[in-house]
Amino acid sequence: MVGALAAVGVGAALVVSGPAYAAGPALRSAPVRIFKKTRDFASCEKAGAWAQANPVGTTKWVFGIDWTAPQVSKFGDTWEADSIGTPVFRSGQSSITVTIPRWKNMTSADRAAVAGFNSAVLAHEQGHIEIAEKHVAGLPKKVPLGGFGPTRAAALQDLKNVEEGWRRAVEEQIQALQDEYDTETDHGRDQHKVGGDDVVLNCPQR
Ligand SMILES: [Zn+2]
Repeated sequence: MVGALAAVGVGAALVVSGPAYAAGPALRSAPVRIFKKTRDFASCEKAGAWAQANPVGTTKWVFGIDWTAPQVSKFGDTWEADSIGTPVFRSGQSSITVTIPRWKNMTSADRAAVAGFNSAVLAHEQGHIEIAEKHVAGLPKKVPLGGFGPTRAAALQDLKNVEEGWRRAVEEQIQALQDEYDTETDHGRDQHKVGGDDVVLNCPQR
């Protein structure tokens, strides 16, 4: 079972698994906000050199879990708090930021070069969004977790810890997939390895 939870409770081992970033059918990604920054350069060539050595786009992906209100019960001396979580990709809190280079006296060929560059950056960053979204879609829709303790408060606190541990485990898993994607594509400069356009500023011949 993909994304199965191995165990719950005090000190429980959290085991999560899910599809690799390239696996599974493509999803229709929810739209995320796109922020554009401009950066001035002396020339196209200078901008191109900068783009080779610096991150030109960043993606903020936000994964969260909606938990039901805890149900608390007591068995002998032990309190138990249970909750069911639903993993959610929070597209409204996710965003992409890209840097658009510019320089003085840009020709139409310069502008076309920047437009091509910018769309390659956006496609690479959109890939990060899809990785997070696809991974979340592969998780179970209902994740039951429990916390235990000698008091009601202790059980509720333990549940909180277990919930946070699970959320963090999934987040780390998504981050590992993002790192894998960036390694394979060299942050988009080798995007052709996953079937896209490389992030490179092709300056027009003068
Ligand atoms: Zn990247």
